[in-house]
Amino acid sequence: MAVREILIHPDPRLRKKAAAVEFPLSDEVKQIIQDMADTMYDAPGVGLAAPQIGVSLRIAVTDTVWRSEEAEKAGDGRRALKVWINPEFLWKSEETATWEEGCLSVPETYADVTRPAAVRLRWRDMEGVTHEQHFEGFEAVALQHEFDHLEGKLFIDYLSPLKRNLITKKMKKRHKH
Ligand SMILES: [Zn+2]
Repeated sequence: MAVREILIHPDPRLRKKAAAVEFPLSDEVKQIIQDMADTMYDAPGVGLAAPQIGVSLRIAVTDTVWRSEEAEKAGDGRRALKVWINPEFLWKSEETATWEEGCLSVPETYADVTRPAAVRLRWRDMEGVTHEQHFEGFEAVALQHEFDHLEGKLFIDYLSPLKRNLITKKMKKRHKH
């Protein structure tokens, strides 16, 4: 288990466009993915993109089950780790949905963000197999949030400049401690 340090906004490494991953995966990349999962569960969070631990590769991990109401009710700590490599959206719905978002790189900050409500995604798994699937609801939102990280984009970019500046100031102050 290797928990990595999560970069905090406004770290410039969070603003870089990440590079595509080559297959077959190297041992180094496999280790990065394992560390990303460890870091996400430790945080705790429901998603983490490689740039958030300073790795500029197109990889994200999510688990939209383990902290859900359903999992809490079941009380069995169920987990559903998913690994997304070189993801690309093939389609996004015109219909939008607004969810309150937060981010491990912008701690203790939550805001409503409006995004396409449904998406069709193509991605590769750790074996290099290509998948295509339709997503909606919370998972569609979580995936758009995570893959924004691969473009150097954060959820606060969807807020007004005034709000974003306030958040950036708050994060800078936090850094000093
Ligand atoms: Zn995030």
